[in-house]
Amino acid sequence: MNANSNEATTLREESRLVGCSSDEEPGAETTIFSQNEIPIQLVSNRSTDFRQRFFPLTTIDSWNDWKWQLRNAFTSIDDLKKIMKLSEKEVMAINNLKGRLPLRITPYFASLIYNTKFSDPMRRNVIPVVEELLTHTTEQSDPLHEKSFSPVKGIVHRYPDRVLFTVTQVCSNYCRYCTRSHSVGKLDKLGRQDFEKAFSYIAAHREVRDVLISGGDPLTLSDEILDYILSNIRKIEHVEIIRIGTRIPVVLPQRITDNLVNILRKYHPLFISLHFSHPAEVTDECAKACIKLADGGFPLGSQTVLLKGINDNVPVMKELMHKLLKIRVRPYYLYQCDLIPGSGHFRTTVKKGLEIIKGLRGYTSGYAVPTFVVDAPGGGGKIPLLPNYVVEHNDEKIVMRNYKGVLCEYPEK
Ligand code: SF4
Repeated sequence: MNANSNEATTLREESRLVGCSSDEEPGAETTIFSQNEIPIQLVSNRSTDFRQRFFPLTTIDSWNDWKWQLRNAFTSIDDLKKIMKLSEKEVMAINNLKGRLPLRITPYFASLIYNTKFSDPMRRNVIPVVEELLTHTTEQSDPLHEKSFSPVKGIVHRYPDRVLFTVTQVCSNYCRYCTRSHSVGKLDKLGRQDFEKAFSYIAAHREVRDVLISGGDPLTLSDEILDYILSNIRKIEHVEIIRIGTRIPVVLPQRITDNLVNILRKYHPLFISLHFSHPAEVTDECAKACIKLADGGFPLGSQTVLLKGINDNVPVMKELMHKLLKIRVRPYYLYQCDLIPGSGHFRTTVKKGLEIIKGLRGYTSGYAVPTFVVDAPGGGGKIPLLPNYVVEHNDEKIVMRNYKGVLCEYPEK
């Protein structure tokens, strides 16, 4: 967080005396604009209040500059204490993060959580609590064994026809349940030679038709580096599709600039996999970013991790799925939370995920129902799970139960 002038500090102090309601619901005022109605300089009232209160000398242009947002991200307990009251559990956790997933929250995302209760779902996403320091015997630092599927730095080649390419370890916000908490946030950058080796690996493996660029968050890289990565992958003839995995529209929507979209659209077919956790994340700014990407021609999918106390019930999940469709994002995967160290307080049972799918399928549009998967510990890959709709299945017939519990038969002959 930058140090504004003394005047700014005084204004902040004064504004905190005025205070804010901890009962205020972030996202409650969200309007989903139709694509022709989106203001060019969209800044919600909530963001404006926050900016005026804590960054009083910062202009709207600076606030809307993604690099300003990254430079001013909250990364320490002292920074956070200037804008919000922290619980004892949060303070203890932040003070003991050494060597673990760091703390980082953009001012934009801070504006969504600074006046929330300790239990607020979006707050729990980014502010650690003391339970994060507890490790269970079933947890592993690299539960998907990505390191053992990595032939060269940055590449994970687990499935037959596609590779994961982790191009950076940096994110604009660190999610406390991150599967790659063993590597993200660490100072382990890929150099030019590492990139060249990764491109050579993909070029040498003709079976690779799909490259997923992920991280960390690839969209924290500059336009120039993204252009360099994408152009080199696109040169490889057998690569049919490229995907980018990112949480940027949720945590730093200012990053989705016209220039970025113009760079990305040179490399179609390019799919973008987003990551949403809660309906309140779908703010006006986030909606604008997603619609801009959709207008760029990128098919948008969303992955959601099932998280205890955040989205582990049907009404919240249904609201999230509906809001995503309204901003042209297709729900893709619902993940069982991976067994990373300190994730016990986030994990639900697998049964809970099945209950949620059961509560969606048939009760809302099929487009609003993601595939529930467990990423098998030990590197077994994603395994889809469905509620049990099959009552009986033999050579003669299959007997199934529909979403209302009614039995239906289909002949096999
Ligand atoms: S944005 Fe993705 S990679 Fe970064 S911390 Fe969150 S889950 Fe992990």
